[in-house]
Amino acid sequence: MAVQINAKICTACGDCEPVCPTKSIVPHKGLYTVKTDTCTECEGEADMPQCIDVCMEEDCIVFVE
Ligand code: SF4
Ligand code: SF4
Repeated sequence: MAVQINAKICTACGDCEPVCPTKSIVPHKGLYTVKTDTCTECEGEADMPQCIDVCMEEDCIVFVE
């Protein structure tokens, strides 16, 4: 369980990086990417994924299996 960032929508604003409790969001090729091996969907940390909560771009960050 994890989320992923849509590179076509991400503006590389960087707002999501500092709010991630597991430090799973990292710069990647000028944009940002989610490390799926450490992303917990913020379970136990917050009611909803904090990156999705902070991202201003609609549907930029989505759930993946
Ligand atoms: S908050 Fe959204 S638009 Fe900004 S870097 Fe993160 S995923 Fe990209
Ligand atoms: S869902 Fe939570 S743990 Fe996963 S990348 Fe977003 S802020 Fe980090």
